Amino acid sequence: MTVAARIHVRSVVNSAALRHNLARVRALAPDCRVLAVIKANAYGHGLVPVARALAASDAFAVARLEEGLVLRDAGFDQRVLLLEGVRMPEQLAQARQQGFDLMVHSFEQLALLEGDAGRTPLRAWLKLDTGMNRLGFRPEEFRAAHARLRAIPGIVEPPQLVTHLANADDRSDPMTAAQLRRFADTTAGCPGERSIANSAGILAWPDARSEWARPGLMLYGVVPFRGESGADFGLSPVMSFETEVIAVKTVLPGESVGYCATWRAGRPSRIAIAAVGYGDGYPRATATGAPVLIDGRRAPLVGRVSMDMLTVDVTDLPTVRPGDRVTLWGDGLPVEEVARYAGAIPYELTCGVSQRVLHEVR
Ligand SMILES: *Cc1c(COP(=O)(O)O)cnc(C)c1O
Repeated sequence: MTVAARIHVRSVVNSAALRHNLARVRALAPDCRVLAVIKANAYGHGLVPVARALAASDAFAVARLEEGLVLRDAGFDQRVLLLEGVRMPEQLAQARQQGFDLMVHSFEQLALLEGDAGRTPLRAWLKLDTGMNRLGFRPEEFRAAHARLRAIPGIVEPPQLVTHLANADDRSDPMTAAQLRRFADTTAGCPGERSIANSAGILAWPDARSEWARPGLMLYGVVPFRGESGADFGLSPVMSFETEVIAVKTVLPGESVGYCATWRAGRPSRIAIAAVGYGDGYPRATATGAPVLIDGRRAPLVGRVSMDMLTVDVTDLPTVRPGDRVTLWGDGLPVEEVARYAGAIPYELTCGVSQRVLHEVR
């Protein structure tokens, strides 16, 4: 059987949209260099094709050594920052060999660098914890950590200075301004380029812009703000998650649809069965009423999402038939909107598209 004859459950990645979104980042943060965050398989979009489309960014950021190695194996020789740094001597040796930039966020990592005999110059990014309480030195520890880092032979001078915002997607939370103040106060007088803003910081907090911006989500055309979508900021969705209708059936009033019989027809209904389910990464938690696009028109999801299928009430779309294209999110249906029906954030949805889905790059 040829590929064309198969049912296509596809995640289509639009390279032109990635390039457009990178240009939007540059327009919104004109004086910043862009550290394109492509961890977690580029938020589920595919690490290597996304890196290729975003090759014009100033550097890449990934979470882990393994992700950086995939980039090097694919031939990328750009700067790559490992956002979690390294923990073991073998990892440090590999990071040096590959020329990776390292986040330094703990005294254990400082000790690792101090005890290392490697001489290849290493670029370090020192992380200050301004309130996220995840990675980084506490403000009262920062000066000492900074002095120790700068005393290590081979560390390129001066190290970059970093913090991460905990709640920048809530424009009304005073926490962000407090974090920015703490960062400015703690690093006052320290030389070195700063990096503060994630996507929410770039979009909503002009004061968070610094030498290096670290956009992730917005590069994929998605925004973290409740009730808004990428289009509101001139961004284009990158991922289109698609399948097709494989059956249409009639349901009588009072009859239920799907597992647990959570939805019952209140009128004679036509139900389209779409070939996609939680086994493909469409969240099972998605509530009845969530929009689905069938040939570009919206219809509501009804009943429980199954592993390989979901059901859509197309009573009001009488022309729907097997073979029609179904879009779960993407062009015309923001993943931000679907995420709300799933009780999730858009990051989870794009990251969750599973291996068995055909990944296509255009
Ligand atoms: C993931 C990550 C980012 C990108 O965040 P977005 O909200 O996707 O823009 C930036 N900085 C750090 C440290 C991260 O872990």
